[in-house]
Amino acid sequence: MDNCLFCKIVTGQIPCTKVYEDENTLAFRDIDPKAPSHVLVITKEHFGAIHEIPADQGSVIVQLMNAVTEVVKRENLVSEGYRLVINSGENGGQMVPHIHVHVLGGRSLHWPPG
Ligand code: AMP
Ligand code: ZN
Repeated sequence: MDNCLFCKIVTGQIPCTKVYEDENTLAFRDIDPKAPSHVLVITKEHFGAIHEIPADQGSVIVQLMNAVTEVVKRENLVSEGYRLVINSGENGGQMVPHIHVHVLGGRSLHWPPG
């Protein structure tokens, strides 16, 4: 999508610090990390949010979560644990309208979130 920040990261118009990439997904470090390890995992194809992925394209969700698993392993978060967050819409605090999974780890995280 033309004016989407994360689509521009996918095409390389905006730089990122890559953690993982495959044919369908990209993972890169959050520019304003909220934990020692804070990685964003996105689909290369533009979807605004999880509910915008059509039911007959469920493989997109599998690809996204497989990439999350790869990131969790690469960041060495398995033994100490981690949190996955998908903010959606205004109440969810979503700032970038291109689906992304936050992978947060490296410290104890509070619950419930604010
Ligand atoms: P959300 O509020 O869930 O939409 O999260 C958007 C995230 O994108 C925030 O944590 C931002 O710090 C992060 N972000 C914004 N611009 C960039 C960028 N150019 N590179 C990496 N992360 C970014
Ligand atoms: Zn996009």
